[in-house]
Amino acid sequence: MANSLKKYREKRDFKKTGEPHGDAKKKSKKRFSIQKHDASNLHYDFRLEYEGVLKSWAIPKGPSTDPADKRLAIQTEDHPVDYIDFEGTIPEGEYGAGKVMVWDRGTYENITEKDGELRGIGESLDAGHLLINLNGEKLKGGYAFNRMEGEKWLMVKMDDAESDARRNPVSTEPESVKSGKKIKDIE
Ligand code: MN
Repeated sequence: MANSLKKYREKRDFKKTGEPHGDAKKKSKKRFSIQKHDASNLHYDFRLEYEGVLKSWAIPKGPSTDPADKRLAIQTEDHPVDYIDFEGTIPEGEYGAGKVMVWDRGTYENITEKDGELRGIGESLDAGHLLINLNGEKLKGGYAFNRMEGEKWLMVKMDDAESDARRNPVSTEPESVKSGKKIKDIE
């Protein structure tokens, strides 16, 4: 775990930013969160709790509930588990400067199969193909993550009872699930 967070810590000055250093103990239940991050380019950070860290992707357009949408998801460095509900402002001049808000959070389940058997998350990530079932406050149901090349993945809603081509929660449900605030009101 410590090694996996090296890059994350090197990029930050913890005397200046309120972001967590990453010392909290991991919990057994697998959680996910999606943070709206108004940095130089507005994006949504998708984070999956796995083996004591948060596997992370930056999604420029945010997630969709429409299976026809393919959303670019750029894999970024692992983050510490206590980042999962971080909300606040990263100071000017610091890495990722700007406001961060918890747009969605909940639990997830790995549903990736290979040859009819459940395949582990680590193996699935290595293979560049991961299917998960989300139970968030906003997002629910299956999502597929498929690697195209390098750090570039596509996040696509799976066609199931929770898919909805008309919902568009990124624009119609902008509030934080933690504070109820919109991103402009985050301190
Ligand atoms: Mn970010």
